[in-house]
Amino acid sequence: MKTITFNELKKEEQELLLKAKEAASHYYNLKGTHYVGSAMQTQDGAIFQGSIVRRSAPSSTTCSERMVIDHAIYAGKRDYKILALIGFNIDKSPNNPVFPCGPCRQIISDYYDNAPSGSILVSNHDMSEIIRTDIQELLPVAYK
Ligand SMILES: [Zn+2]
Repeated sequence: MKTITFNELKKEEQELLLKAKEAASHYYNLKGTHYVGSAMQTQDGAIFQGSIVRRSAPSSTTCSERMVIDHAIYAGKRDYKILALIGFNIDKSPNNPVFPCGPCRQIISDYYDNAPSGSILVSNHDMSEIIRTDIQELLPVAYK
């Protein structure tokens, strides 16, 4: 994992991170501790967005990463290029980036094996801490 600044990102990555921030503003959280947004760009340039929908039962929650991937699947897209996440956990770590949960890492792995290395961006809410990583680093031994 590598920490980078917003200005070091490629233009398309900057735009995608801003789309993730816009998506985060659509969060719905019954528990009030997390807000997260995601944006994903496919190889053909299409962009999808998703936000967290946190329900009373954690197992009923829709993570923003799942929502964005499901949007792409619904549109028939499978060739993912960049995934950007932005958000924070209000109670535990307000200034730290929120990483994908374990089940989302597996879901990302199911569709992201052919994405370029370093193609996942994780950011805190004000983009002062941005981390470049990829699914191989987040889930090195995925279930297949
Ligand atoms: Zn998740």
